[in-house]
Amino acid sequence: MKNLRNVRPASAFIAFVCAAVISGTASQAAGQVGTGETVIQKATEQFESSPLKTTSLDKGMWMFSGDGGNATAIVAESSTLLIDSGIDSRVSELGDAIFKATGRPVTRLVNTHWHFDHTGGNVYFGSGGVTILAQENVKKRLSSVQNVPFTGLRDGHYPTQALPTVNYADSTTLQQDAQKLTLVNYGPAHTDGDTIIYIAPANIAVVGDIFSNHFYPIIDLASGGSIDGMIHSVDQILAQTNGQTKIVPGHGPVATRSDLQDYRDLLVQVRQRIKVLVAAGKTINEAVAAAPTKDFDAKWGSGYVSPDVFVRMVFTSLMDSSNPNR
Ligand SMILES: [Zn+2]
Repeated sequence: MKNLRNVRPASAFIAFVCAAVISGTASQAAGQVGTGETVIQKATEQFESSPLKTTSLDKGMWMFSGDGGNATAIVAESSTLLIDSGIDSRVSELGDAIFKATGRPVTRLVNTHWHFDHTGGNVYFGSGGVTILAQENVKKRLSSVQNVPFTGLRDGHYPTQALPTVNYADSTTLQQDAQKLTLVNYGPAHTDGDTIIYIAPANIAVVGDIFSNHFYPIIDLASGGSIDGMIHSVDQILAQTNGQTKIVPGHGPVATRSDLQDYRDLLVQVRQRIKVLVAAGKTINEAVAAAPTKDFDAKWGSGYVSPDVFVRMVFTSLMDSSNPNR
């Protein structure tokens, strides 16, 4: 069985052309996006060409970034627990970087949600006998074809060895030597299968794509995501963290609670502005033309989710929630 990613051969081609033109990776540093047309083409170009970076989070803990969503590794005496597995085309490079940092084999893998840039390495790790854990809806999403509106992403139907075999509903805990991991789902937010992982006593929160630092987020409306759910989950994370917590976002550098607070303010203000447009009977195109994110775009609008796409997602989410018959 082959993964269905009908947009990716095209984006791989664009990435190749781009690399040939710029002859190097310097201009593809994190945060810069390529020339692809859809969100996924732009993102995939970036994931395929960004250098893989290893960042120390604490003793025995690292973040790996560049090859998709951020991945986090936590070591115990004889094993490594991994959170998220990047894109499939760079998984052996990721595996090498993890082993170089940790010196121990990966035995467990937690997926923060089903998207390809967080689960692309599942086949590699699952085939090698790694136990994959996730919120129960991740397995459902990965088992069938999914279409994510406004992004160009069509994916899912992963092979059996890539599917989570340990599935939880609301919360569960894992022990990795002295570190206790609490896995929590606060209801649909970015998708309907999001997991936030609190690591204590290290005081690290791995939050997946509920937070990208600092780019407009994708709200996967077809997978149950919503702007209200995003804000609800962010509020819960803010309540569980403090000024010393290191927050590992789904994309972008390690953040602080104050960065997450800024992001919460962005979501709340944009939701309010678009609510006003919805109440005034504006169409989605009129809402985009009203530029309700304008004063936020300098800080948040340079990622692969453009202001236009973000407004469309929030608008549609609010239309869905305001109409019980939809
Ligand atoms: Zn995602």
